[in-house]
Order: sequence, then structure tokens, then C-alpha cells
Amino acid sequence: MKNVVILGAGYAGLTTLKGLKKAAKAGEVKVTLVNKNSYHYDTVNLHEVSAGNIASRDICIDIKDLVSPGVEFIQDEVIKIDTEKKLVLTKKHELDYDVLVVGLGFQPETFGIEGMAENAMPIADINAAEKISATLEDNFRKYATSEEKDVKDISVIVGGTGLAGMEFLGELVHRKKELCSKYGIDEKLVKIYGLDAAPTLLPMFTKEYSDYARKFLEDNGIEIILGAGIKGATKDSFTIEVDGERKELFASTLVWTAGVRGNKLMDEAFPELSKRGRLVTTQQLTVPGLDDVYIVGDCAAFIETGQERPYPTTAQIANQMGAYVGARISGKQVGDFKYINRGVVCSLGHKDGIADVMGGKKAKGFAAAKLKKIIEAKAIYELTDFVTALKNQRIL
Ligand code: FAD
Repeated sequence: MKNVVILGAGYAGLTTLKGLKKAAKAGEVKVTLVNKNSYHYDTVNLHEVSAGNIASRDICIDIKDLVSPGVEFIQDEVIKIDTEKKLVLTKKHELDYDVLVVGLGFQPETFGIEGMAENAMPIADINAAEKISATLEDNFRKYATSEEKDVKDISVIVGGTGLAGMEFLGELVHRKKELCSKYGIDEKLVKIYGLDAAPTLLPMFTKEYSDYARKFLEDNGIEIILGAGIKGATKDSFTIEVDGERKELFASTLVWTAGVRGNKLMDEAFPELSKRGRLVTTQQLTVPGLDDVYIVGDCAAFIETGQERPYPTTAQIANQMGAYVGARISGKQVGDFKYINRGVVCSLGHKDGIADVMGGKKAKGFAAAKLKKIIEAKAIYELTDFVTALKNQRIL
């Protein structure tokens, strides 16, 4: 019986597991899933928790509910992968494997910007999201209860206006209203900045749609500054350079969404092949030269034959990679991995957004926000089952 070890219970790890469950039940494979937490969290909703609009429990699924016959779950942190000895070391265990699937996900990357890692909070996982939402509320409360009010306590800077940054800014529109009403603060005094070095906003959408998103945020009091080279951060400021001029912006809540990398363990396990925690896989998602080691999700840099650049890191590709690897290990004839891009949706809070989905279908406003929830429910179904998916999206 093949001994399969899956590292990480993110999108990629759980879809791999789902694809192997039948074979595990039939006794054809033994599967061990390792994850540092007892729960899976929906990374694509972390910005909602970070803003404080939903609770962590709303986006977490207990992994023990996903365990089925032939599957063992070990809650522990992976500390080393040794492909020569075919061993994985966790803090408490030593696990051998016949087939290894690495789906350890992403970590924040601050590109050596001075003070960024120390001072700005990344939207990285559940703990990080809870820290952002608590800091935001503490700062609003401090402003409301201080005799000498400092506007920087009700100011927020978000470094990065990619999907994660824009979706977080969209959530702040609602949260700012709520906090101002709770603490009796004049909403007009609140300053929220979205900064990006890129000259264009959301280039994956048409100009009409990215203009729509920008206008939505600006109409709600958020300032978007593009072409802003972010040069440094202190505990209450970002230094930016726009058109050759340096400027300092002040805020007590600093958030960083402008960079992610693959897991650092990848660089230690594959020093010659992995860059910033990502490894260019074969067309079957294995490590070149190691047919028994698959890399899935954000740790994989998959370059399709005929293309030059890897696909970006998204939950969409992580799900497809996991489904492919699960099918392949369980013996299905699957050929090479092919990615099907089903489009992109950017929510702007729970009632607005922009969408450009498969077949060129576009939507903006309420319809786009709801479309995102339906897509997310489908993605959770791909990881789990029908009822869990509906519950997870607060549909049941
Ligand atoms: P992850 O989801 O990161 O899961 C990795 C798992 O491994 C986690 O459970 C983690 O706890 C575990 N782990 C990590 N290290 C260890 C260790 N040492 N030992 C044990 N366990 C470990 N993508 C989209 O397609 N659409 C979106 O709308 C979208 N929105 C996003 C919004 C935000 C705010 C963010 C941050 C990302 C968004 N993404 C989106 C990107 C998407 O979330 C990632 O690409 C996706 O989560 C990658 O999945 P994964 O399975 O590779 O890793």
C-alpha cells in the first residue's frame, strides 16, 4: 500500500486529500495529512476577518471533520523535508513517505523594505488577521477616549492594491462606518490610503472595471495613490516616493499586502531549485528529478509548455493542482496538468465588487459581490462536501 503524506491543509492540500479519499477507503493508499493548526482557514476571506467584519470561526473548517477511513491527521508544524531519506520532520514526529505532496502555502514578502516586516501587519493567516482587526479597533477606541486626539489613530495605510489589498480596502468602507458610529467619531476625519508602486490598478480587469473599483473606494473616502514606490516604514508611517518626490504618510494601523512568497521550508528542502519559496515543477507538478514529490498551490511555480512565466499564486490554481495530483496518485490517467482560468472577481465589501469570469461574462456592483460568494462556496465544495460549503459561505 502506497504511503502518501500531504503537507498543509490549505486549498491545495485539501483538494489532494479529497481526490485520494476513495483510494484510501479501499485500502489502496494510506494518507497522512499534516497541518500546524487543527483547522483549515479560507485564505480568500482573510481580509474580511482582518477588517473585523466577520469572525475567524466563519472561515474555519475543523480538519477532523474531513478525516475519513484510511486518512490520518497529524496536527503539527513541519520543520524539515529530507527527500534523500524520504522523511518529513515535524516538531514531534518523523514521518516516512512513498509519495509526498507539499502544499505549505505562502508567507509575506517585504522585499527588504526598511522597517516593513517589523512595523506593518501582513494579511497572512488567522492570527495575523485577528491582530489587524484588534489593532484597528484599539486605535479608534484610543482616539475616542484620548483628551489629545491624534488623527493618525484613525488613519490606516494599506501597502499594495492588488486583489488582497483592494478587497481589504473594500471591507474597510463598512468597518470604518461601524467603528465611527460605535465610538462617536466623525467619519470625515478618518484617513485611509491604498498605495501601490504599479501605475495601473487591477490590470487583470478592463479599465472600465478598475476605474469602477477606484471610484467606489474614493467615493467612500479612501485615497488611492499609484506609482508610489514604498521606501520604508516606521511604527506609525510609510515613506513613499511619487514622481521623484519623497513623502511621509502617518497612521497607527499599517497593513502590508504587496508581496507574498512560497513557504521558506521550500528553499531549505530544494536549495538549487526553489526561489522565494517557489519551485518550477514539471508538467506533472513533480520536483524535477523526483517523481515521488509533488508541489502544489503557492509553493509551485507552474510554467505551462509554450509559456514563459509561471501562473500567479491563487486559490483557483491551488484547487486545480490538488485535484490533479489527487487523481494522479490514485492511479487515474490524467496526462499533464492543464490550468483552466475561470476568471477573476474582486469584492468591495459584501455588497459591491467587479467580476470578469469565464467566457468574458462581466458584472459589477451587488451581482459581482454575490457571484464571489457563489464561487467561494463551489471552491469549498471542491475541498469538502455540499453542506460544509453552504454553511461556510453563510448560505445555510
Ligand atoms: P494556503 O492556503 O496558504 O495553505 C497552506 C496551509 O499550510 C495552511 O493551512 C498553513 O497553516 C499550513 N502550513 C504552513 N506552514 C506549515 C508548516 N510549517 N507546518 C504545517 N502546516 C503548515 N486567490 C484567489 O484565487 N481568489 C481570491 O479572491 C483571492 N483572494 C485573496 C485574498 C487574500 C486576503 C489573500 C491573502 C489571498 C487571496 N488569494 C486569492 C490567494 C489564495 O488565498 C492563495 O493563493 C491560496 O491560499 C494558496 O493555497 P495553498 O493551498 O497553496 O496555501
